[in-house]
Amino acid sequence: MFSHLHRRILFSLRDDDLRKGSKEATREEFKNRHGSIERHPYAVKWAEEIKEKKKVMLEDPLKSIESFRKSFEGRGKYLHFLRSADEARELILNIVGNESTVVKSKSLVGEEIELRHFLEGKGVKLYETDLGEFLVQLVNGRPAHMVTPAVNMTERRAREVLYPVVKKRMDDVVSMVLEVRHFMRDKFLSANVGIIGANALAVDTGSIVFITNEGNGALTSTLPEKIIVITSIEKIYPTLQDAIKACVVQTVYAGFRNTTYIHIINGVPVDTSNGPREIHLIMLDNNRIRDDSLKETLYCIKCGSCQLSCPIFSEVDGSWGHIYTAAIGIPWTAITGDRSIARDLSYLCLQCGRCREVCPMKIDIPGLILKIKRGRF
Ligand code: SF4
Repeated sequence: MFSHLHRRILFSLRDDDLRKGSKEATREEFKNRHGSIERHPYAVKWAEEIKEKKKVMLEDPLKSIESFRKSFEGRGKYLHFLRSADEARELILNIVGNESTVVKSKSLVGEEIELRHFLEGKGVKLYETDLGEFLVQLVNGRPAHMVTPAVNMTERRAREVLYPVVKKRMDDVVSMVLEVRHFMRDKFLSANVGIIGANALAVDTGSIVFITNEGNGALTSTLPEKIIVITSIEKIYPTLQDAIKACVVQTVYAGFRNTTYIHIINGVPVDTSNGPREIHLIMLDNNRIRDDSLKETLYCIKCGSCQLSCPIFSEVDGSWGHIYTAAIGIPWTAITGDRSIARDLSYLCLQCGRCREVCPMKIDIPGLILKIKRGRF
């Protein structure tokens, strides 16, 4: 594995286009993040509040899941608590069926279980509807960043990647977006299943809360007959207010001026001529509950700030990681993926501590990485 990691990193270092894309984008996005926090200073306090709420919910995760189940389940809504990635993939395939067309919006938990590759391997036609994620799908790659999956792709490269699909001349970003919009329209209308992620879940109302910037989440979660929401245990909050605050904090720290959409799903429509008829919520554990030594990782709200601040990430981008990338990606990999891969990845960390300074949840990321380096996990 170590030589494989070396190869990937050397490949990134030699690819000038990739490095240029990665450096420019991380610099720009980190600047946006500063501006965003200045414009929304209340987010700092909200971050402290939601961390406390997370702590309470994670004290007894099974109890939190059952509390959420009570308010969530009802007509057409099912919660499936699954311990492993294999179980989650098999159940999703069962719900989807091999013959289906699926539209999918961004989901890091979906990446964690390599859902797209798995479903495509079973003959399912799946379309990533987030533009960045669609680019990643077209190059058969993995997201380089938690919030902006194609952060390392220059405009020129994106145009080259899109051309074989849209087969139209695209002079700038606007024309690229328009062509992808046209391409996606009939996919939304013909899909039987929509797969979305969830940024937060509210126990008091049984709500699913998720954020998107492109509007694809709204179409993915309302047009198909069946919706699958793939999420994980650390997204549960006591109230809808906490859940919304968590989404706002995530977008502020990700550097968005204002996220375009915050969606709240409370149920399936009574009149099922429009809207989905079934919602399946996949609540994945994947070793989160069992792992005690790296528990602090579960406070992460996946804003990506730590990635943008990391000097190693800006050089080698998403090659430093395994599904979850850069600093916090290392403990995430140790919990949900392969521990030996996490250990190999940990040696690239310089322990500079910038990630800890920028993290809204004040997670001691270098401390977690040190534990992994020392094999104490
Ligand atoms: S560790 Fe902190 S800074 Fe990094 S993604 Fe998670 S919440 Fe954001």
